[in-house]
Amino acid sequence: MKIYKATVKNINIAAKLLLKGGIVSFPTETVYGLGALACNKEAIERVYKVKGRPKNNPLIVHVYNLEQILSITENIPNEAYKLIRKYWPGPLTLILKYKNSSNISSIARANLKTVAVRIPNHPVALKLLKVVNQPLIAPSANISEHLSPTKASHVLKDLGNNLNEKKDMILDGGSTSIGIESTVIDFTGNKPTVLRPGGLNITPTNKYVKVSYIESNANNTTPISPGLFKKHYAPNASLRLNAKFPLKGEVWLGFGKDPKNIDNFTKMNLSLTADLDEAAMNLFAMLRLLDKKNIKKIAIKEIPNKKIGIAINDRLIRGSSK
Ligand code: AMP
Ligand code: MG
Repeated sequence: MKIYKATVKNINIAAKLLLKGGIVSFPTETVYGLGALACNKEAIERVYKVKGRPKNNPLIVHVYNLEQILSITENIPNEAYKLIRKYWPGPLTLILKYKNSSNISSIARANLKTVAVRIPNHPVALKLLKVVNQPLIAPSANISEHLSPTKASHVLKDLGNNLNEKKDMILDGGSTSIGIESTVIDFTGNKPTVLRPGGLNITPTNKYVKVSYIESNANNTTPISPGLFKKHYAPNASLRLNAKFPLKGEVWLGFGKDPKNIDNFTKMNLSLTADLDEAAMNLFAMLRLLDKKNIKKIAIKEIPNKKIGIAINDRLIRGSSK
């Protein structure tokens, strides 16, 4: 399997492959997605298989504009509209009521009466969606439960052997800028609920919506949303969270200034300047690097639980559960 630079020419080739039922991995601003036509049952079945993803975990449908959203959903609440206007394109996924007359494959929705939708904010993703001119499902392009991909090389390593050189394609648009998955908000229950914290931090004081949170979501073993299982985003190494300094045999993954006396071979740093956005961008790539070096134990400095740090901590808690 080869990686192709996301030039206009290659995006056009990728669109043709998608229209013929192929699978294309493409960059979004959050992580790399594994795209297929949202109406194509066989292609979507292959996406589940390639990722090893359980079929009860529905996929996010990626669209290009509001018109496409209106064609697949109905009864969009006012507060959801406000978020759409303010934050799309962006790292925000909304669960909305599915329009039955639409042709999104039921396996993409895990047979639910709802559908997850998002307009991604990345020129390659938007161009591809525009050329294909129909919705694409695009879960993260990694083996299910493992670290999400933030570079095309991550996709190749995880899924290269499971993809088909002739039918499928990996588009390289560089490292993703946010590096952590989208925030998922459910608008189909009694009140808007954040199912997964992510790239966009929607606080209880948000101007446009009053949301509630699933309590200690990351520790749930019986998720209220399919797919919100406890173990997820896991490296091979074991993670010790909220560490002050590394213990014997541990590699240090710092945030802000490192403690003294750790030698350079046993430390990495998510952001020396304690910048949460930089840490989110580096998180999965650094954990992948440490896995590549066959590191067994990682001690991670406490990450402030605010802004995108909430999503980082959610991923770390899940990633540390075995
Ligand atoms: P991923 O594709 O790996 O970014 O994960 C998508 C997330 O959205 C998973 O946590 C899914 O369980 C969740 N999701 C997708 N569709 C729905 C839906 N219709 N209802 C509830 N959660 C959903
Ligand atoms: Mg995923």
